[in-house]
Amino acid sequence: MGKVLEEQYVGRLAPSPTGALHAGNVRTFLVAWLRARSLGGKVILRIDDLDHPRDKPGAAEEALRDLEWLGFDWDETLIQSQRKDIYREALETLREKSLAYPCVCSRKDVESAQSAPHEGEQLRYPGTCRGRFRSWRDAYAFSGRPPCWRFRAPGDATISFEDAFAGEYSQNVAEKMGDFPLARDEYGAGYTLASVADDILSGVTEVVRADDLLPATPAQILVERALSGSPRFRANREIRFCHVPLVVGPDGKRLAKRHGDSRISPLRLAGKDPREVIGLLASSCGWCKPGEHPALRELAGAFTLDSIPHRPFTLQRP
Ligand code: GLU
Repeated sequence: MGKVLEEQYVGRLAPSPTGALHAGNVRTFLVAWLRARSLGGKVILRIDDLDHPRDKPGAAEEALRDLEWLGFDWDETLIQSQRKDIYREALETLREKSLAYPCVCSRKDVESAQSAPHEGEQLRYPGTCRGRFRSWRDAYAFSGRPPCWRFRAPGDATISFEDAFAGEYSQNVAEKMGDFPLARDEYGAGYTLASVADDILSGVTEVVRADDLLPATPAQILVERALSGSPRFRANREIRFCHVPLVVGPDGKRLAKRHGDSRISPLRLAGKDPREVIGLLASSCGWCKPGEHPALRELAGAFTLDSIPHRPFTLQRP
């Protein structure tokens, strides 16, 4: 009988160079890196630098230096801004299947079509441009500015998946967000499309990230399923997910500048011991005692998802 080959675990770290690496990103990367390494897996470092003009010059290089200083390593690097041809192919694949259509609505149009959206509520696109234009050019001629592309979300599909940390999660994408954006102009892929195309092509088996992206995951699964039917993006199996709690400030809100400086680079530049950062974050996940200062590599044996608390981790004023 032939030997059954075990699938190799492939994980990724995907920093966005829209700002400096901070303790919140690092806690999530700690989980992602240790999960991959403790399973003998591979780690891909992906720079999500498609968000011009929010991307900050030099931030990607700084983030790499910070990660290396903390003890992270990786087997492959992907830079999204160098992969635009791939995202163009991905968009074309969806267009050929009539799953993408051009849209001329501004954010304001979408907001005013929604009656009294509640704070923090997802903006739902009402489908104004669905079936409205024959081509991107027609849409451009109509509005006089570059239309975006939206994904045609099926009304009858509730996407359900078992998250390795957050558990069972279900969402009807059409009801929650409607037809969501794929590209901001003719070819300028946005995060959802680029991230899914990259995860498929780089053979990622599980995405570990913060749970603020849990509600965005069903849309990504829809894109993944639509792409993976094509020869270029064919995948052996669906990508799994593991969403861990966010790091918040003392007011319970997502870590931000007003909570004080939680960036990693000033600690590195001041000659601090990286094990202090690792120790603080590892103890918040239950892998060492508070006050202990293990190096990243020494945590592989202690790593488990089970000891991570399900509530957000509050970083006291640094
Ligand atoms: N660069 C994205 C972020 O920082 C990564 C999202 C993801 O892991 O898919 O939000």
